[in-house]
Formats: sequence, structure tokens, C-alpha cells
Amino acid sequence: MELIRRRYRLFGVVQGVGFRPHVAQVAERFPLTGFCGNNDREVFIEVQGEAPVVEAFYAELLETLPALATVIRADVDKQDVREEKGFQIVPSVHVPGARTLLPPDVATCADCLADMADPSNRRYRYPFTTCTNCGPRLSIIRELPYDRPLTTMRDFPLCPACQTEYEDPHDRRFHAQPISCPECGPRLWTHPASEDVFAAVRQALDAGQIIAVRGIGGFHLLCDALSPRALRTLRERKNRPEKPLAIMAPTLESARTLAAFSPEEELLLTSPARPIVIAPSRGVLPDEVAPGLDDVGVMLPYSPLHHLLVDRPVAATSGNIAGEPLCFSNSQALAQLDDIADLFVLHDREIHVPVEDSVFIGTTPARRSRGYAPVPIPLPPGPSVLAVGGELKNTFTLAHDDYGHVSAHIGDMGSLATQQAFERAVEQLLSMRRSAPEVVVCDLHPDYSTSAWAARYAQRHGLELLEVQHHHAHALSLLAEHGMVTGPAVVATLDGTGYGEDGTIWGGEILTLSPTLSTAARTWHLPTFPLVGGDRAVTHPWRSALGVAAVCGLDWTPPEAPSAEVELVRSQLSSGIGTVSTSSTGRLFDAAAALLGVAPGAISFEAQAAMRLESLATAGTVSASVPDDIPALMALLLDAARPPADRARLFHAGLARIIGRELLHAADAAGTTIIGVTGGCALNRLLVADLRAVIEGAGLRLIVHEKVPANDGGLSLGQALAGRLAMS
Ligand code: ZN
Ligand code: ZN
Ligand code: FE
Repeated sequence: MELIRRRYRLFGVVQGVGFRPHVAQVAERFPLTGFCGNNDREVFIEVQGEAPVVEAFYAELLETLPALATVIRADVDKQDVREEKGFQIVPSVHVPGARTLLPPDVATCADCLADMADPSNRRYRYPFTTCTNCGPRLSIIRELPYDRPLTTMRDFPLCPACQTEYEDPHDRRFHAQPISCPECGPRLWTHPASEDVFAAVRQALDAGQIIAVRGIGGFHLLCDALSPRALRTLRERKNRPEKPLAIMAPTLESARTLAAFSPEEELLLTSPARPIVIAPSRGVLPDEVAPGLDDVGVMLPYSPLHHLLVDRPVAATSGNIAGEPLCFSNSQALAQLDDIADLFVLHDREIHVPVEDSVFIGTTPARRSRGYAPVPIPLPPGPSVLAVGGELKNTFTLAHDDYGHVSAHIGDMGSLATQQAFERAVEQLLSMRRSAPEVVVCDLHPDYSTSAWAARYAQRHGLELLEVQHHHAHALSLLAEHGMVTGPAVVATLDGTGYGEDGTIWGGEILTLSPTLSTAARTWHLPTFPLVGGDRAVTHPWRSALGVAAVCGLDWTPPEAPSAEVELVRSQLSSGIGTVSTSSTGRLFDAAAALLGVAPGAISFEAQAAMRLESLATAGTVSASVPDDIPALMALLLDAARPPADRARLFHAGLARIIGRELLHAADAAGTTIIGVTGGCALNRLLVADLRAVIEGAGLRLIVHEKVPANDGGLSLGQALAGRLAMS
């Protein structure tokens, strides 16, 4: 058979992750000749062989990438066949001005776990073992280029044995910057001091105590997840009455006993990123883990330390005090968590950038941090753009070259400490990428602290400021992560609150994006209803229900709300004074939960009422015909003749049918087949499954989030794309 020759150029996180040895290993398995090498931008590979062999090689290469590698883009071209023997690795080439992409922090690999389990290995039970394929990266890197002296491991010079491994091209630790061993690496201790860290932790867990553990990206608070008393203590001390607690299970087998994961969810759970995956609970955990909900968020140990500490399911919640960012230094944790934790597990490997756990609800990202950040998302080329994101679950994005660098989760911008963390993270990313933005993008909302920050920043640096409507940014975020940068497209943007172009609160729209995506028309929206009392309406679902009842002509009185307050709300509804109009899907869910009697009088965390409604609906069936207008759907919620679970189920199915029908109309009118759903309510698995059924029933595909959060955590990526579109 005839020989062919191909040149592949792979872009992404391809340096310092063991890429070239991997290419050589794969090439050895095929009758091929050629070479591979890298520079600060790409890995380049030339291979020569019979066409099917070359194809099989390339497919296998991509299927078996090293754990820390991410290929974001690949180019192929044809080359002339030449005389050649064997396959070689050629030396690295440095490109002036190019900036290597950083790897994320990923979980301990199987080889390192085997080292830790082997009593004859010098890293037996060593809590800081890492290699080329695993361990901390983003959280310990202070500056580029990525070399040990520029990481927080600079405090730990390599011992001769580690140095030998570091220099040996055949060793798994070849050129792995963060490696160490018991001779030369970081130290682990407890406060108060104890002889044996692991025995002390075991004792504390047995005694129902709370333990603060310094992990990879910050502190966790741990306690025995099977002890209701320990869970109640954690909730009381952390002032977190009901918000679900994540669980760390020691093994996949253990995780499977706690929640029912789909095969796709298990892949996520065991992936090198090791995110928290929220799935239906099997009911073996105490109710204190997630009161009133049928789901539980589970993750697996992701650092050697966690593998050694976690011998049973433990609750593992962020080590912070209410409203403040994650603690990541020893002194911070000792000062702030003193009233919460009975025992501290500390070490002296400094964390440069705090990185929180990533979270998926089913397979949809709800928080993108550890294991994913700072791997960028490709964007169309253009000038540098700094997009500051929203107000809650904040992330920001720097569009630089042809990448959107989405930050790790920053959090809710309400506190000064979070705003400082935001500013520090912006400075770090700009300096790492040596980028000077030409345009700053923020939300249209006049009261977001991020919008105010963006205005100040733009003024100080003489930059253009672009305000992008909240749901337009959501829609662009969805399209950007799928590499869809031309329209038209129709997107259902379903969330709690976003400032609309008309100054009212949006959150249940269908937007039709223009062929260039740079404008979005509000093609359809949920029927609006009046909301009384701004923030208080968000925390008291019955207020939304009264507004909906007024519009839909329902006779309903909240059973548990104080009657004087109900009367006041009713009179405001009839006079219109102190009300705002909203098309919010989140508030419609609040109203539905309240009408059905499953909403608490006052919620204690975001989306609590909607999550209860979804939990209830999961047990219901769609037996009756589904009403297809909102007033009929709301009336059905009050139909006491049907079981509550069936009513909750019908509400989801009906809402999905209405939104699906309108999406199909809008797509038809715009002449497009690009149909998507985004926003915080796109984290409702039942709603999205029902919506997908409607769209697929028409022979089309529904685009959903896979890489960036559907909620406001994904907003900044969409803003960054808006910035690029405005400048092109
Ligand atoms: Zn490893
Ligand atoms: Zn060593
Ligand atoms: Fe939103």
C-alpha cells in the first residue's frame, strides 16, 4: 500500500504534561516513522505510514491523552513522503512572546496511588505525592514560565533521589515541577498537635467532631456523613441550616451506595477533575445532609491527603464563614474557622490561588473550578477583552488570542473580601497572559458591583466599556462553548433574575440571535406577573405565588404566612405600588412550589423551593393530558384531586411543552436549527429532559451546557464573546 505523510499541530494544554513521551509511546505501537516536538503554543507531530495506520495512530493518540493534557484545537496538513527511519522526539523550541497554557489541578493518578499503597516504596503513604500526570498546578503556580522556582514548591529543594527522577526521561516524574518525597517535601501536622495525624482524624470523626483540612485549593470542613449529630453540629456552627452538604466518599463503590449515578455521571465522578456530581440519593445518608431533597452531591478523594484521611463517607463543605470567600492560608483558617473546627489538618505547601470544588448537576456544569480552570474555551480571534461576569457565582473571562480564559469560581460579590479576591485574580490572569484589554464588558444591571468595577477600570485605563444584557450573555455563553459563532440561533434563557432592556426583571425569554449573534431580539417570554418587595420576594416564595395567582385568577391564600403581611402584599398587588413586573422562570418555580405547598415560608438558600418541587416531581407520573398555557398549569397545581407528585410532574412537562413549542416557532421564523437552553433553570434536569423530548420530537437537537455553568457562573464567557463581536 502507498505511504502518506501528515503534519498535525495540536493546540491547548500540551506542555509540561508528558505529551511528547506519550506521542512516542503511541507511535511505537504502529509501523510509522516521523517525529514530534513542542513549543510554547503547540505540539507538532509528523508521521508517515500507510493511510489506515496513520489514521489509527491519530485516533489512538487523542483517545489516550495524558491526564493533564487538553487539546483545544488541531490542524492537519499533507506533506510529501520522504526517506526516514524510526520515530523521534525533537527538542522543545521556545517561541518569543508565546505564553504556555496552564494545566488545572487534577486528581492523584493510579500509578501514584500504587506508590502510596506499596510499603517498599519511598512514597508509601506520602500525602503529597505527584507526577507528570497528576497533582496541583493552577493553585500553586505564581508566575510563568511554569518552573518550580515560580511555584509555591520553591520552598522545597529536590533531594538527590527526587532530582534523579526529575532528570530521567523514562521516569514518570520527568520534568514534573511539583514532585517531592518525605525527605524533601511539605510537612503535615494537626492543630492541636497530635502524634499521628491520621489516628487523630479518625478519632475526631468517630467522636462526631468537625475537622478543617487544607487540601489542594483551600480548606474543607469535614465530619462523619453518617452521624446526624455531627452533621447538625456542622450546620449550627457554620450557620448553614438547610443548604445541601457535599459528600466525599472513599471509593466509587462507596459512592454508588449513596447515590444512583448514570454511566455518564460515573465517568465525570472518576474523571481526573473529580468534580462533585449531584445525583438521586439512595436514602442511606441522614436527612441532615440535604433536608427535604432527594438528591445528594458526591465526590471522590482527589489528593493523596484525602485518600489517606477519608475512610468513610464524610461531609465535605467549603472552609469559609458565611458570606466570606474560601480560607486557603493556615493563618486565615486558624483565625476564621476557630469556632467551627475541633481539629485542623495543616501543611506548608502554600496555595497561591484558591480553587473550589467543581460541581455538576447530573452532567450539566453548575460550578467550573478545580480540574477545569484555567483551561480556556476557544473563541474567534480579536482584540483582548476583559469580561467581568455577574454578581452571584461570579467568574470573569479574559479573551486573549483565540482563547476565552474563564476564571475559577470567585463567588458572590457581596463581601469586600470577595471583591478583593476578584481583583487579585484579574491581576494574576492579566499578568500570566501579558494581556492588556482593549475593551471591558459588564452586565446591563446598574446595581451590580461588577458593573461599577468595570466602569472604574475602563475609565482608569481609557478603555471602551460595553454593557451586555444578561440573557444575551447567557445565550452567547452557550453558543461559545459549542464553538457556534454564527447565527441565527434561538435560545431559551431561563433563570431567576436578569436586568431586562426595558428595566423590568427578565428570566423566561426566548431570544433570537442575529446572524452575527451581536443582537438578540426578545421573541417570546413567559407571561409577566407582578412581584412585591424585591429581595423579600426572592426569599419568600409565597409572594411570587400571590402575584401569579392575581394574574391567573386563582383563589389562594398562603397557609403559613403572617396574615397582616399577606394583606399588605394583596393591597400592593391591587394598587401596583412597590411592585415590579417579571417574566422570571425562577420566580414561576417559586410560585408553583408555594401553590403546591412544598415551598418553605422563607427559603434559606437559592432555588430551595424549585429544588423541592423538582424532587417531588421526580416521583410523579404524567398520566393526565398536559395543559399548554401557563394559567391552566398554575390552576392544576391547586387540583387537590391529583397526587402532589403528579401535579409537580405535570407542571414540569407543561412548562417544557410551552417553551419547546415557542422555541420551535422561533427557530422556524428565524430559519435556523440552532436551538438551545441556558440560565440557572437549565440546571433543572427534569425540565431540560422534557424540553429535549419536545425538540427531538420535531427532529431537531437541543443544545445544552457541557463546559461552562448554565447559571451566572457562565455569564462572563458570553460577555467576552459579545466583546469580540462588537470589536469585529
Ligand atoms: Zn501521578
Ligand atoms: Zn525528595
Ligand atoms: Fe442569570
